[in-house]
Amino acid sequence: NTAKKAGWQLEHSYAALPQTFFSKLTPAPVQEPELVILNEQLASSLGLDSEALREDENLQVLAGSQTPENGLPLAQAYAGHQFGHFTMLGDGRALLHGEQITPEGRRVDIQLKGSGRTPYSRGGDGRAALGPMLREYIISEAMHALGIPTTRSLAVVKTGEPVFRESVLTGAVLTRTSSSHLRVGTFEYALNHGSMNDLQALADYTIDRHYPEVRETENPYLELLRKVVTRQASLISKWQLAGFIHGVMNSDNMALSGETIDYGPCAFMNSYDPKTVFSSIDARGRYAYGRQPIMAEWNLSRFAEALVPLIDENQEKSVELAQAEISQFPERFNEYWLQGMRAKLGLFTEEQEDEALITSLLSLMQTHEADYTNTFRALTFNQFDDSGLFTDSDFASWQEQWLERLERQEESKDLSGQLMRDHNPAVIPRNHHVEEAIEAAEKNRDYSVMNQLLNVLSEPYAHTKEQEKYTAPPAPSLVPYRTYCG
Ligand code: AMP
Ligand code: MG
Ligand code: MG
Repeated sequence: NTAKKAGWQLEHSYAALPQTFFSKLTPAPVQEPELVILNEQLASSLGLDSEALREDENLQVLAGSQTPENGLPLAQAYAGHQFGHFTMLGDGRALLHGEQITPEGRRVDIQLKGSGRTPYSRGGDGRAALGPMLREYIISEAMHALGIPTTRSLAVVKTGEPVFRESVLTGAVLTRTSSSHLRVGTFEYALNHGSMNDLQALADYTIDRHYPEVRETENPYLELLRKVVTRQASLISKWQLAGFIHGVMNSDNMALSGETIDYGPCAFMNSYDPKTVFSSIDARGRYAYGRQPIMAEWNLSRFAEALVPLIDENQEKSVELAQAEISQFPERFNEYWLQGMRAKLGLFTEEQEDEALITSLLSLMQTHEADYTNTFRALTFNQFDDSGLFTDSDFASWQEQWLERLERQEESKDLSGQLMRDHNPAVIPRNHHVEEAIEAAEKNRDYSVMNQLLNVLSEPYAHTKEQEKYTAPPAPSLVPYRTYCG
């Protein structure tokens, strides 16, 4: 064994939960692992050596065909409501190597996606195709750079094996990292499939891992609910502010850490419309852009139901307490959202009429099908082209109101300009650019298109010359765009 040590420092706190929450796995060898992309910065922050990770022996770990030092590969059990219907699920194509303890002492899940069948695979092959794994890599890294809590992507490795979908595709494995993979669906699983003891063990574990500060409060489980509600309100506000549409907000895809998880049919909105849906499987628009806050609240209610047996011995009282927490979501969401919108408009202070100012801008944008990201860029840089929205006389009067509003705060024009530059991205991962990058990688092993895109997306608030090439919305022929589950 001559391979350099990659730096794995794995622990397995999740595996100390009752047996019902996981199944141990044996790694499945793949034909011919080939590295497509490695996130060197992330690797180094995890205490991993990129040079070593590229060596054949270590690459096997990222392909799921070998276990790292001190690894304990397992698949997690969970359930969830998919498009409103309760289902037993679990990691059907994922493998958890363990929790990497970083040099700073953080605990980070190292999970492979597309690594083969598990006891929860149902009819699936446990595999993933290169395209969707690169898509997750690009978009999750872009989300991170935008300042939105998210799982991250460490590597994509081709397996050298085909996967069979509507056509024959290139197989690949994504290594993703997260502060945990605990989901609302993990609690639904405990409630429906576990004992009272299992449920309590899971709640205690969640508190220890993510919210240790609630341990000392009067009612830790109620406090846990409050924390998760708050964290989600903050997360969803950030999605809305960036124009991000998750696409499949099933309760198994909502992480208790408050990180965005499971990049399938997600996409960023181009022209502003609350009804925007990209996902080919969401024909009725359940998870449309404008419905994301409502759907988050719906999922949080499923979480609250699972906590009811723990909150109070008196069931009725417990339900009442839980409902009171859930009912806080809309207001908390709105506070975060308003705070974010004020920043996008350069406002430091709060006025009662701000919300009306914001919604009238959004409604103008909707009427003119204005590009969401570019409208805020135009406001930031005072660069109005001669099309659509900006030539409307209603816009002129809106702008006048906004400028008056800016005048009423003490902060200088320079400061509010800076605030706007810091909150209005130059670039978002638009579908047509993501597709171009994936196509070059798939067809010609040309990773330069993807690397350039990743580079531009890594500093979305830099507003460089280079980024301007990436700001145009898609050509009309590419709209409406459809996304698919990988
Ligand atoms: P998702 O819609 O991505 O949240 O996935 C829903 C469920 O389907 C999860 O339990 C996945 O593990 C499972 N799944 C998705 N694709 C596959 C596959 N190719 N093989 C086995 N299970 C899968
Ligand atoms: Mg999922
Ligand atoms: Mg998925």
